[in-house]
Amino acid sequence: MVDFTLTDEQKALREMAHEFAAKEIRPVAWEYDRDGTWPEAVLRKAWEVGLMNAHIPEQYGGPGASYLEGALIEEELGWGCSGIGTSLAANGLATAPLGLGGGEELKKRYLGMLTEAPLFASFCLTEPDAGSDVSGMRTTAVKRGNTWVLNGSKCFITNGSYASFYTVYAKTDRDAGHRGISCFLVPRDGTVTVDKKEDKMGQRASNTATITFNETAVPAGHLIGEENKGFKLAMMTLDRTRPGVAAMATGIARAAFEFATEYSKQRVQFGVPIAMHQAIQFIIADMATKVHLSRLATWHSAVLLDQGRRNTIESSHAKRFAADAAMEVATDAVQVYGGYGFIKDYPVEKLMRDAKIMQLYEGTSQIQRLVIARETLLPRRVMEPAAATA
Ligand SMILES: Cc1cc2nc3c(=O)[nH]c(=O)nc-3n(C[C@H](O)[C@H](O)[C@H](O)COP(=O)(O)OP(=O)(O)OC[C@H]3O[C@@H](n4cnc5c(N)ncnc54)[C@H](O)[C@@H]3O)c2cc1C
Repeated sequence: MVDFTLTDEQKALREMAHEFAAKEIRPVAWEYDRDGTWPEAVLRKAWEVGLMNAHIPEQYGGPGASYLEGALIEEELGWGCSGIGTSLAANGLATAPLGLGGGEELKKRYLGMLTEAPLFASFCLTEPDAGSDVSGMRTTAVKRGNTWVLNGSKCFITNGSYASFYTVYAKTDRDAGHRGISCFLVPRDGTVTVDKKEDKMGQRASNTATITFNETAVPAGHLIGEENKGFKLAMMTLDRTRPGVAAMATGIARAAFEFATEYSKQRVQFGVPIAMHQAIQFIIADMATKVHLSRLATWHSAVLLDQGRRNTIESSHAKRFAADAAMEVATDAVQVYGGYGFIKDYPVEKLMRDAKIMQLYEGTSQIQRLVIARETLLPRRVMEPAAATA
């Protein structure tokens, strides 16, 4: 059955996230954007009301929200400020591999840690020479007795400066390309250094840093999943987190659409509000369509996960479409504002800068197209739940 009706609980959750975004995030978002400082007070409040770590299952102290519920929250946070939203959502990315492949003890300890205090974790995949092509990574993990010892640097790590632990991908077989990568849970200690905080175009309230591991030793049990199966774990992680990024992009697009719509009713040129000019009406109409379709694609990709089904192509559709739509809608919002759109006293130039990252992180829009093309040209046989039980 296809039904887009939210339950009363889901509506209440979305309302709560919206209230938080409107009252706690929006009033300070442009200030944090200007200063590029860590929005600690907002993050702490969000943690207190349950808008961080919603994905953590109940047995580890979290609320165990579904993927659809996570997407509802992320759209509202993205509407408030996607920089702050990214800081709030990054624990979900960092802990997805742990949830998928971590041992019970590791999950209890590290997922539990995030629900007991407002702490952060980071996902460490990207390196200077390994962005879209992670098989080029140089970070290594070598087994010494009962420990794994990691060496190497990861760049562009969200919340890296503030993380208490990291999920780190490293080569455990240097000659095996993507088949030689493993994933580790690495607590922050004196051997982990923060080398550089990036000064970014957009999402300036989020922290992005280079993290270096210098002879960093972790117990053997901190291997997440199987040795040399880290690439698959990373891809499975991204299938699960791309709906959230798509939701955040939908939130940015919705914010830009709302600002532009309101402005078009107020701004008078040639004796009428500019909304009376058909050229502006068509821009607004296209914005409305893009927001609507971004949300539909996002919800579909999330619901498939909630049904226990593979969503690789749908999460790439959603992430690619919503990211590109957010960029287009935010750019068009600047157009509707005319010259004022280019000025920092007005809200939409921030949204245009923020939207750009949606087309870059968690797989660029080109990489999403590669995934979609591969899944289209070489489809994998999927056993539907009904067929599996028949
Ligand atoms: C603000 C921010 C936060 C981030 N957070 C994290 C994080 O928390 N953890 C983490 O691990 N990483 C993170 N990243 C890294 C991000 O995921 C990478 O930047 C992204 O995957 C692209 O890699 P790259 O920058 O090396 O670009 P490249 O891979 O060098 O790509 C450059 C260009 O070439 C294109 N391209 C590359 N290969 C192909 C191909 N085969 N076909 C067609 N086009 C191609 C790309 O689409 C892009 O346009 C973050 C990045 C930023 C900027």
